[in-house]
Amino acid sequence: MAKKTVADIEVKGKKVLMRCDFNVPLDDDCNITSDDRITKALPTINNILQRGGALILMSHLGRPKGKRNQKMSLAPVAERLSELLDTDVIFTDDCIGHQTKAKAKALKSGQCMLLENLRFHKEETIKDEAAREDTQLRQAKDDFARELADLADIYVDDAFGTAHRDNASMYTVPVVMQGKPKVIGFLIEKELEFLGKTLSEPERPFIAILGGAKVSDKIGVIENLIDKVDCILIGGAMAYTFFKADGRAVGNSLCEDGFLDKATELVKQAKDADCEMVFPIDTVVVRELKPGAENKVVTGNIDSGWNGVDIGPESRQLFVEKLRGAKTIVWNGPMGVFEMPPFDEGTKDVALAVADATVKGARTVIGGGDSASAVTKLGLEDQISHISTGGGASLEFLEGKKFKCLEILDEK
Ligand code: AMP
Repeated sequence: MAKKTVADIEVKGKKVLMRCDFNVPLDDDCNITSDDRITKALPTINNILQRGGALILMSHLGRPKGKRNQKMSLAPVAERLSELLDTDVIFTDDCIGHQTKAKAKALKSGQCMLLENLRFHKEETIKDEAAREDTQLRQAKDDFARELADLADIYVDDAFGTAHRDNASMYTVPVVMQGKPKVIGFLIEKELEFLGKTLSEPERPFIAILGGAKVSDKIGVIENLIDKVDCILIGGAMAYTFFKADGRAVGNSLCEDGFLDKATELVKQAKDADCEMVFPIDTVVVRELKPGAENKVVTGNIDSGWNGVDIGPESRQLFVEKLRGAKTIVWNGPMGVFEMPPFDEGTKDVALAVADATVKGARTVIGGGDSASAVTKLGLEDQISHISTGGGASLEFLEGKKFKCLEILDEK
């Protein structure tokens, strides 16, 4: 059943506590280098303010590990948000405490307030599993959540980037707000609809592209997708674990020796499910991973002393051909060390092929993280149906996992 959204509830005259993902990138002088995560939250923020809600926003930024750290203050976010909303955003020095309570109480309809970084308090990131086994931790997490919950009449979750976590602000706050409305925002609604429909009602051919560093991070995704997609293209360093499992030499390439059996099992599982698994046929290799390193293309074995860093030209052509005609595509993970040109060629060609498929009518989804930044760097973001705002969260969604913090929110 679908979750209730802010549009389904009355917010006029109510205090609305909304969890956002304002974990924006900052430079050394604490300037925001991309306000994407702030602008993505604007539809829900504007909706609540325009309908007369008094809005209290909360988020984490970075990993301050439970200590106040001015370099990870949300103050620059409050400033940027004020500019974007063209109105004052009240900023509180702490997310809990007397002053915050007083400011929240005084907040009027149509006003917006941002709380300081939730992770300045260690209670925010106490895992529920740990809290279950330790009453002191349980108490600390609950007390912290209660202070946040007491600020408002309504809870809104619009932080897809952290939807896979059970942080106090994501999970415990709605738990303790019993009897009060607890809904999702438009960003999460869009993510769930897009990712959900892509997996449940795909037009075929449905192709998954998986890359990145480790196969161990993607086992769950491969297992879940094998029954759903027609074909999986495997690139990035994770391909080398499959190579080695198949008896090929991988030289000094990144390879997870502890997962060779698993890799063999996945190949068999795919075969049994009639899911085509496509591996690179050639590899760009270097002796030393550094910009401008001497490189060559090899087919088959990778000699000792050489390190695979990208899929080769024949593989690029093969992957592009496979993607031609696809009607649904999901992509997670780069094809090589794309941060270091020229080893971004494979990732670039795949990004262009995904964009081309979109233009021809395919539904294309990129699961946050590195593949999203590759697409953005190429200026192709408008040619992708959906770029997820949550790398880890979208990966878990593709694994078929349920999000505990969303399950406890109100159903339509
Ligand atoms: P992940 O977070 O698992 O999606 O991995 C992303 C990272 O994988 C990027 O930082 C890439 O540089 C890295 N990566 C992709 N291919 C390779 C490769 N062949 N060798 C080393 N690192 C790689």
